[in-house]
Amino acid sequence: RRWGFGLFGEMRSAAARSPERVAVVDEHRAVTYGELDVRVRRLANALRAEHGVGPGSRVGLLCDNSAYFVESMMAVIALGAQTVLVNTGLGNAQLETVAHDQGLTLLLHDESLLGLLAAMPPHLPRVAVERIDGLIRRSPSAEVEPPSSPGSVIVLTSGTTGAPKGARRRNPAGLGPLASVVSRIPLNAGERMFVAAPLFHTWGLAALQLCLALRGTIVVTHRFTPPSAVQAVRAHGCTSLFAVPVMLQRLLEAPGKMPSLRVVAASGSALTGPLATRFMEVYGDVLYNLYGSTETSWASIATPDELRSSPGTAGRPPHGTRVAILDAAGRPLPTGVIGRIFVGNDMLFEGYTNGTGRESHDSLLATGDLGHMSADGLLFVDGREDDMVISGGENVYPAAVEDVIAELPQVREVAVAGVPDEEFGQRLAAWVALHEGEWVEPDAVREYVRHRLARFSVPRDIHFVPALPRNATGKIVRRQLFPR
Ligand code: ATP
Repeated sequence: RRWGFGLFGEMRSAAARSPERVAVVDEHRAVTYGELDVRVRRLANALRAEHGVGPGSRVGLLCDNSAYFVESMMAVIALGAQTVLVNTGLGNAQLETVAHDQGLTLLLHDESLLGLLAAMPPHLPRVAVERIDGLIRRSPSAEVEPPSSPGSVIVLTSGTTGAPKGARRRNPAGLGPLASVVSRIPLNAGERMFVAAPLFHTWGLAALQLCLALRGTIVVTHRFTPPSAVQAVRAHGCTSLFAVPVMLQRLLEAPGKMPSLRVVAASGSALTGPLATRFMEVYGDVLYNLYGSTETSWASIATPDELRSSPGTAGRPPHGTRVAILDAAGRPLPTGVIGRIFVGNDMLFEGYTNGTGRESHDSLLATGDLGHMSADGLLFVDGREDDMVISGGENVYPAAVEDVIAELPQVREVAVAGVPDEEFGQRLAAWVALHEGEWVEPDAVREYVRHRLARFSVPRDIHFVPALPRNATGKIVRRQLFPR
């Protein structure tokens, strides 16, 4: 029963029961579960024979979404080694830190990402995943000895607040976590899922895991663009889409709709109320908002009904998950009061690869986010603790101000942050990107906010920019907005 763990176990049992079903589709090929199983085991053999991969190895995977990504990760897990999923959107300095901190012993990479390889240590052996077919052809057999201990996957945090941290993931025990998600989201056995979110991020990886457990088909394209996404969803009749919120915004702006979609799941960063409402106006009641992190996995899920009645909500914890709003001393706060969000479930990470952990209270883990509960038990995420602005002694939550400015029809996207101010300590500034051909006076923006929020929430500075700096998971990188 040593094979019965995590991703690899799901794939093997799917291959045993539905070998003819298509498991992975990318721009170049479709692989059935039966083929995937054989290819993964042959690749595992080749990686062991030619590159010495085994328990104790740390294999970095620097790839965009593709069938090769899935095959490579599975083969490393099959050998009892660790796969470190490296974010392909990192800058060279961040990549150097990751390569050094994670102690990589081999790097599997997309040929097209050669430019990023300059940031990797020169002595680190590397294999382009495009060579996998050759490795598989040379591999003698598909027999692999089960490893003495299961391989695991290290997922990096997005690096929103600094250098990305490696999170050691627990292999979920059984299907409990999956069942809890499916109880809130109507995903079916054999689901055809288009996963637009990057597979190297916790959200894309979770979608892959769901897909394998449902014995579904995962459709991916190398990099997200609205036309390629629309085309892939239509060509393969996908019934669900897994994306980060900014992708949904771009899909709304793209020509062509996707009528086959029954479920559109967004996660990875805040889904603003205005975006949720606009998306459902076009696509109907298909939208789900999942709140979570690399460290906690999913913490809460909002259904279309909940998003209709309370557009900015992150919903409710799925079965088996607890969410608490605590004050600075770890005491629970009453309904409606903003505090620190803590999460408890059996999917919490085991710690960072550098040996550090994260603050916890009563088996609840600090998320680093602030939020509140409504009277009817819905969670609202008010932003990250680090982003909170204290201006003249008043607490301002940038996300609340962003939500209001985003309601203006001329506004495409907006970020709000605190900038140093001699008089108030910090003052509010907004960076606003407008829809093409649109214009709004800065005073009209201030006026709009003044009518809806407290006086100290009105941004003093308003900068018009063509677009906001975002990382690979669609998060606004506030520290790039202005020098600190
Ligand atoms: P780092 O820890 O390196 O700074 P990160 O926290 O951005 O990076 P992730 O684990 O990728 O790394 O992101 C988790 C965070 O993303 C959450 O703590 C939260 O701030 C935000 N987030 C994710 N989903 C949602 C959501 N549905 N609504 C609001 N915020 C979300």
